[in-house]
Amino acid sequence: MRFDIITIFPEFFGGIFGHGVVKRAIANGLVEVSVHDLRDFTHDRHRTVDDRPFGGGEGMVLKPEPLMEAVESLGVAPKPQRDQVCESVILLSAQGAKFTQNVARELAELERVVLICGRYEGVDERVNELACDRELSIGDYVLSGGELGAAVIVDATMRLLPGVLGNEASSAYESFGAADTEFVADGDGPPRSTHGAGGLLDYPHYTRPAEFRGLAVPEVLASGDHAAIRKWRRERALEKTLKNRPDLLERAELSAEDREFLKRLNAKMP
Ligand code: SAH
Repeated sequence: MRFDIITIFPEFFGGIFGHGVVKRAIANGLVEVSVHDLRDFTHDRHRTVDDRPFGGGEGMVLKPEPLMEAVESLGVAPKPQRDQVCESVILLSAQGAKFTQNVARELAELERVVLICGRYEGVDERVNELACDRELSIGDYVLSGGELGAAVIVDATMRLLPGVLGNEASSAYESFGAADTEFVADGDGPPRSTHGAGGLLDYPHYTRPAEFRGLAVPEVLASGDHAAIRKWRRERALEKTLKNRPDLLERAELSAEDREFLKRLNAKMP
């Protein structure tokens, strides 16, 4: 998979992809990330990328010509033909649809993703119309530029690609993970992270020491009782989701046992 990032601050990405899983994926040739300086697509002495907004108002707007030239230089299919190829051009925007784990899964199916980073007040809307397949926001807040958003999208997407995480199963059994259809068949083996997050948040994790500042690791985790560990993890995931992200429960895949547990939890809440 290849990512192309168009930005006025190419140096921004120098360190950001140089660590851990992302660094390894790039070094192993599983992913390619190219960063393009928007100013290379200007033709004036000052390498101008922005201009004042039509209609007046605050700030500056990124001009359409350098951005269109930059996209066109990458050799991606023209927008009308793009749904026939595995390519997508994405505008980072606070007005975009929200980037979620499901969107990351969709993007991980593609071969090529171009990310356009806005700055100032944003990007001339015609770039969106002419070149972009979707506008994505990484959350309900306003950043000063699209670079952090692009880095978030590259990171979350590439860790879903086959071979990027050491353990293939990892990305299925974490927060927002897909449901585990093998849940029932999974009875005897060592417990996996959960039985498929099924849209829940992850359960709490512990490592050594067994006791730390007066807090002991929950006993069940050292019991070797796989079924009990699985049940404990499922219940903690339900608890955490109810406490921090109750909205996720509406779409989570819940068993009758899960629902019963949640009912008991709700009854206990003040
Ligand atoms: N005037 C815009 C904000 C511009 S912020 C508004 O009110 O919506 C400048 C740039 O930062 C945007 O063009 C976009 O590329 C990026 N940006 C800001 N917030 C973002 C977010 N939540 N997600 C993704 N990109 C964002």
